[in-house]
Amino acid sequence: MKVLKFGGTSVGSVESLRNVKQIVEACQGQVMVVVSALGGVTNQLIDMTGRAQAGDAAYEDILVQVRQRHLDVIAGVVPVPQQQQCNAIVEQFVEGMSSFCSMLCLNHDLPADMAANIKDAIVAHGEIMSSAIVTCLIDGAEPHFSPNFIKTRRVDGADTLDTDLTRRLIVEHLGQSKAQRLVMQGFIADDADTGMKTNLGRGGSDYTAALVAAALGAECLEIWTDVDGFMTADPRTHPDATVIPSMTYEQAQRMCDAGAKVIYPPTLRPVAERHIPVWVKNTFNPSAPGTVIQ
Ligand code: ADP
Ligand code: ASP
Ligand code: MG
Repeated sequence: MKVLKFGGTSVGSVESLRNVKQIVEACQGQVMVVVSALGGVTNQLIDMTGRAQAGDAAYEDILVQVRQRHLDVIAGVVPVPQQQQCNAIVEQFVEGMSSFCSMLCLNHDLPADMAANIKDAIVAHGEIMSSAIVTCLIDGAEPHFSPNFIKTRRVDGADTLDTDLTRRLIVEHLGQSKAQRLVMQGFIADDADTGMKTNLGRGGSDYTAALVAAALGAECLEIWTDVDGFMTADPRTHPDATVIPSMTYEQAQRMCDAGAKVIYPPTLRPVAERHIPVWVKNTFNPSAPGTVIQ
């Protein structure tokens, strides 16, 4: 069994989603697909919650844009017989976000922790909507809701993964599935004590995928992104950067800790502990060999 994680740009457009479908459907054996929100959507949702809380009606424009982006993607990529159902799912989530935003906008004296909970619940919709689309897109995909098994607790004011509980719940929820293709959200979680939506931090979908791979003893974890592999430097700022074909976990961890955004820093530890190889691959250039971290 393999775990494949697709980042924001990989699920961000009709063209890239077509590649995602091909990559997943070409896999032999069981595949766990972990998806981020459509590229840029998490930023938009965070911006939207801030505006709603500040009483700025411009939040509604952002919601309109987010809704239209998802409907356009569905029209471009989801098979026609499933489009209506997929649209209805997105509309229902948009309505949910709209109600949450009204709550923030109209109640100026909400306690800070309640406002924070509502904001996290809104932001979680990015991954919830993208995973709904990917589920409709991939033949035979079985949907799973990550907050049912990715659990955080409040520690020193921060949402912190409950490692043991999460590992046990992943095995309980996913370990018995006979489906060949499972789809779940990256990034999002539930607070184990309150049941409120939380998340693993910005870029946290990589970490979700690593937790699933480690708990289930996957044969590998594949991080599908928008560059040809782990590179000597960020190619956006260093055009002469080159792909590193093979790295140790330690080498990759040092570069992640130093800011290499291609992998979220907490990701490597759970897979390194179980000696699970991590591949960094390009959704836009799947035949490129990529980087293996082992
Ligand atoms: P995703 O949405 O797939 O999670 P990210 O934007 O989080 O993608 O990470 C991919 C980006 O990381 C690349 O587009 C690249 O600009 C940046 N990056 C920074 N450092 C590196 C590096 N050493 N190797 C590859 N990419 C890097
Ligand atoms: N969508 C989240 C973010 O933008 C998580 C992720 O992409 O990994 O931070
Ligand atoms: Mg990322």
